[in-house]
Order: sequence, then structure tokens, then C-alpha cells
Amino acid sequence: MRFDAIVVGAGFSGMYMLHRLRGLGLSVRVFEAGDGVGGTWYWNRYPGARCDVESMEYSFSFDRELEQEWEWSERYASQPEILRYAEHVADRFDLRRDITFGTRVTGAAYDEADHLWRVETDGGERVAARWLITAVGCLSAARVPDFPGASTFGGASLHTGRWPHEGVDFSGLRVAVIGTGSSGIQSIPVIADQAEHVTVFQRTPNFSVPAHNRPLTPEYQNQVKADYPDLRRQMRESMTGLLGAAGTVPALEVTQEERTREFEARWARGGIPFLGAFTDIAVDPRANELAAEFVRGKIREIVSDARTAELLMPRDHPIGSKRICVDTGYFATYNRPDVTLVDVRSDPIEEITPTGVRTAAAHHEVDVIVYATGFDAMTGPLLRLGITGRGGLSLKRKWEAGPRTYLGLMSAGFPNLFTITGPGSPSVLSNMIVSIEQHVDWIADCVAWLHERGVTAIDADPQAEKNWTAHVDEVSRFTLYPQANSWYMGANIPGKPRVFMPYVGGVGAYRLKCDQVAADGYEGFLLSS
Ligand SMILES: Cc1cc2nc3c(=O)[nH]c(=O)nc-3n(C[C@H](O)[C@H](O)[C@H](O)COP(=O)(O)OP(=O)(O)OC[C@H]3O[C@@H](n4cnc5c(N)ncnc54)[C@H](O)[C@@H]3O)c2cc1C
Repeated sequence: MRFDAIVVGAGFSGMYMLHRLRGLGLSVRVFEAGDGVGGTWYWNRYPGARCDVESMEYSFSFDRELEQEWEWSERYASQPEILRYAEHVADRFDLRRDITFGTRVTGAAYDEADHLWRVETDGGERVAARWLITAVGCLSAARVPDFPGASTFGGASLHTGRWPHEGVDFSGLRVAVIGTGSSGIQSIPVIADQAEHVTVFQRTPNFSVPAHNRPLTPEYQNQVKADYPDLRRQMRESMTGLLGAAGTVPALEVTQEERTREFEARWARGGIPFLGAFTDIAVDPRANELAAEFVRGKIREIVSDARTAELLMPRDHPIGSKRICVDTGYFATYNRPDVTLVDVRSDPIEEITPTGVRTAAAHHEVDVIVYATGFDAMTGPLLRLGITGRGGLSLKRKWEAGPRTYLGLMSAGFPNLFTITGPGSPSVLSNMIVSIEQHVDWIADCVAWLHERGVTAIDADPQAEKNWTAHVDEVSRFTLYPQANSWYMGANIPGKPRVFMPYVGGVGAYRLKCDQVAADGYEGFLLSS
């Protein structure tokens, strides 16, 4: 079968890409491994899963009616509500008829003679298209550490990113949760409410700020909807795609009282904008330490047991250098008598046994193990696609030492292959819906431009790619980000190259750069007819 375009993935990226390409009159086929739309929000059904960006900001802006008709019930939407939103979008724009669900793309090879991508699926389908667009997400390749004995465990083993659709009833059960990143921090308080006992295995404590989640009033929603054109513009021009994040003065230039007042105000407001309190938190270690110490002070206040509090205080990375978590009652959960914290730095997990988790110091009997161990981020889903470009070069081989892209949109040697929120773009450092819409619009406009001019192939110029990759690296070094062993750096995956993958230059500046490149006739790209 032959299409104009093939899109891989039917999360928010793939859905909007399909909509835009259809609007150009192209024939499109989308392949999605899951049985429904929604991507992240289809797979991550763990208890407590919710957005850490405010609902009114974490939504599509491309259609005025969609934006006005949808009603969010809470300040931070829960996973079921976001999934309902994705399904609503699919219905509203009649997307499902071009999506093949339950089908994984397993190979994609560029046919240089015909300028076509030849794509294979796990269902044995072979299809071809001029344009191949990956919408596979930055956080869709779940990572389960291979502890010795894991397969011998007699109870249920669950990954937060592959949660059973029917849900899990933890009543009366002893539960191990391994991992205290965002998914662990969201799920632990909810699991603790149900389970008989929860044992949390923590390697790295993480910074977390309260969500202060609450229902949204109709008045508030109406106000935001009335202001949407201006608010959306502010988001697009901002650093992170979020509203209300940016402070205007450095922490080191105000008095201690002023600092404390600002931190307290942001803590009371809740959410990611805590990090925007001052302009130097992401770049100056002394300013960063002031913000970090403020959060440690909060942990000290909340957690009654001094030793547990100390274990929960992050000291090995600057605040914000890993995606900051947004929680509901996380630290207070450790005051419960039925929750135990095990520090696996000092007491490592040695094996999983048929009845539990054995650390160096003890055996913890449990009925269920929840792996909240995250993802092979950003490059993981792309490298699993089995992509080969010009001259049989595989993407895996090309990215052996880390991803190399031009603008995070294309990689030289892989013509007509676009990547939505790829490495080298702001992606995971932003409100991702803002970044997704920007990439999809840019790609659709580019394809339309190429069609109008009869261009059959577009590829990144290797020199432009080299310069951009060096720029991405250079800008990251102005910040404290590379100092953390984070998934931004590939540090959670054994053997993965340590390269800072997203672009920290900011959503607004990045958009301007992409627009300029397009206005200059796709400068830095090689076009052939
Ligand atoms: C638990 C969690 C919470 C998050 N919270 C936020 C948040 O609060 N704010 C925010 O901005 N971002 C958040 N994110 C990031 C989130 O991934 C993005 O916001 C957004 O949903 C990404 O959409 P996407 O379509 O690009 O990718 P995804 O939603 O990941 O969708 C990609 C799809 O591609 C499919 N796919 C992958 N490989 C293949 C293949 N080979 N063949 C076929 N299909 C394939 C996958 O099955 C998946 O459905 C969160 C991520 C996670 C995991």
C-alpha cells in the first residue's frame, strides 16, 4: 500500500499531525501500538497519574471551538480526564478511520531510488510513503530494571507506564514501589491509602512541590477561555510554554526576607512555576542551593521522623536539573505507620525472590511490585523503530555517541523523516502540548511548501546539523542541567551515552529560530527534486 505520509504514534502528536496532513489533502496512515488514542494518557493509568501542567494550559490551541467547548474539572487533570479529552479530539476530527491500532512499526528503510520510506509492522504489513513522521513520544519506552530473579516473583509485577486497564485493587496487599521519580511520587500516596503496607525503594530522592489541586469553577474557566488568544501567545513566546513561571530578579540580588517571601508564595501557589521564582535558579549554583534548601526545609517540617526526612532530601543534584515533581501529600505519606522507606543507596536491592524484594540488609515480603522506574527517554522510542536511511545507515549507528539532529526535527542521511519533539528541541523541558503544536505546524507547513515546489526530498545539511548539535550542547552548559544524573542525560539507562538531549534555549526563542529557517527557504536543509 502506498500513502503520501505515514505517522507513527497516535498520542497528541500523531493525532494533530494526522489532522494537519489531511488538511493538505494528503493520504495518511497512522500506526499505533496501543488499542486507542492518547499515548502517554492511554498507557500510564497508575493511581494518582495526572498532569503537572495546569489543565487549561495543557490542551490544544489549534481549534477555537475545541478550546471553547471542552471543560476541565480540576486545576491539574487526572489521567482518565486527559484520556477522555484525547478521545474527544479523535471523535471531533474523525481521526480513527486513518489509524491502525494495536500495530507496532518494527522497521523503516529509505528507498533512495524511489524517494520512499518502506515501513514494516509487527502485523506483517508493508507500506510505503514519501513522508515518514515519528510521533512516538519522548516517554513511551518503559524501562524495567533487570533485577536478578525478577521473573520468579509470585505476585503481580506492574510498570506504571503499562498499567492494567481494569485497574488494580491494592486492598489488604503488601506493595513494593520501586522508584521515586514523578510516577512514584504521584502514585505512592494513593496506593498507601488502599494497601495494607507500602515499602518504597528509593535510589534518588527528588524535589517535589505541592500541586494544591482543586476543582475549577465555571467562572475561572470562562475567564481563561475569554483570554485564551493572549494567554496562548504568552505561552508560545515563553521559556517553558507555561504561564506565570518567570521571575524577573536574581535570587542573589534580594534580601533573605524577600527570597523567603517569594518562595513561600510560590510554594503556596503550587506547581512547576516554583522554579521560576528567580532568574538565576537554573544557572547559578548558589541561587539554586537557596531554592533547594527551601524545599528541604519544607520536607523537614512535613516529615515527622528526622531520619526519614533526611533520606527524602535531595542533595546530589541541583533543583530543577531533573524534572521537578508536583505532588499531592507525597512527603506526608511517610508519616503513616504503614509506609516504609528503604534507601537503596545504602541498602541495595540484591534480588527479587518469589515472595518479595531482598536488599543487602533484609528481605521485604510483598504481594505486588510496582516498578515506577521510568523510561528510556527521547531516543529510546526512536531507536526501537529500526530506521535505516541513505546508504543503509541505521539511526542506531548514527546516534551511537548520542543523538544528532538539526533543530530536533531531522537527522542528516534520513531524508523526509521528521521527528516530533525529537532530541535537540525543547520537548520535555516544556509544556509539551505547546511544543507538539509548534512542531506539527512547522512540519505540515514544510511539507506543503515542498509539494508546491515539486521538491521530492528534504534532508538536514550535515554542517547545519553539526552546528545545531554543538549549540544544543553549548547552551546546556550554561545551566546546571548537565550536573544531574537525569533521564535528560540518558543516565537512567545502563550504557546509554551521557548527552544532554533536549534544547534548553527556551520555547519562544526556539520557535523564532524554526520560523526564520522556514522563512529563509528552509536554510540548513538540502532540497532535491
Ligand atoms: C506519566 C507521565 C506524565 C506526564 N505529564 C506531563 C505533563 O504534566 N505535562 C507535559 O507537558 N508533559 C507530560 N508528560 C509528557 C507526555 O508524554 C506529553 O505531554 C505528551 O502526551 C506526548 O504526546 P506524544 O503524542 O508526543 O507522545 P506519546 O503520548 O508518548 O504517544 C506516542 C505514541 O506512540 C506509540 N508508539 C511508540 N512507538 C511506536 C511504534 N514503534 N509503533 C507504533 N506506535 C508506537 C506509543 O504507543 C504511544 O501511544 C508526561 C509523561 C508521562 C509518561
